[in-house]
Amino acid sequence: MRAPSLTCVHREGLSFLTDQALEREHGILIAFTQRGGGCSRAPYGSLNLAAHVGDDPVAVDENRARLMQSLDIEGLRSRLTTCEQVHGRTIRFVSGATAGLGAFARHDGPPPVPGTDALVTVETLTPIMLLYADCVPVVLVATGPRRGAAVVHAGWRGALASLAGKAALKLASEAGCETRDLIAYVGPHIGPCHYEVDAERLSQFIEAFGTIAAAQGRLDLGAVVSESLSEVGVPLENVVRAGVCTAERTDEFYSYRAEGVTGRHCALAVILEPWR
Ligand SMILES: [Zn+2]
Repeated sequence: MRAPSLTCVHREGLSFLTDQALEREHGILIAFTQRGGGCSRAPYGSLNLAAHVGDDPVAVDENRARLMQSLDIEGLRSRLTTCEQVHGRTIRFVSGATAGLGAFARHDGPPPVPGTDALVTVETLTPIMLLYADCVPVVLVATGPRRGAAVVHAGWRGALASLAGKAALKLASEAGCETRDLIAYVGPHIGPCHYEVDAERLSQFIEAFGTIAAAQGRLDLGAVVSESLSEVGVPLENVVRAGVCTAERTDEFYSYRAEGVTGRHCALAVILEPWR
């Protein structure tokens, strides 16, 4: 298999990181969005995709529609599936029956999947989307013969609980493959350069993951997430990291630590159809 990669694509006024070869060769579309090109006002400017941060739901739904259009999946707007993220350890499977939960920010739509920080699916035409401002976004894909995808939200609690590794095990089991066959994309998140934590928390991580958890005395969540994937058998060469610090790049991404009240960018994955 060719080496997975992330590149920035600009389309219809929006920008996102994606792996175009993955879409071309395996019919799986993934995206980590940037914050430009939306209609939300400050402090949510401008492509805020989250319904829970105090932004106008009408603006959020318009932003989600623009995103779907930019990704060329506008026909799947009502199947977009989101979850209520709680910094917990719950991983849920999205079936055809649960597709579309939380698709709309407006209050009369079906609510998102409750209390969940990772979604896994093998269902085609069912975009799964999680939301971030500093926490680590992880997209996992199984390229076949049975295709599958997972999106994980790993803040420090999720990283410490190896949520990405656990989601990899779940995805491999649902897709009927080995974890060594999975590809993992680690999107933009707060880097060790901007992530000071107290000594007690840092030592918790070093105890669990070794010294790779710390970079210059600060917590390196991306290294921890990569290690949690490696521990369950995902080869390091199958793990692609965006290598962007959200707190440093608030022009392109949202950062809770740098901005306080702000919007959320997303990680999204969808298995396209028909395929081969
Ligand atoms: Zn930084």
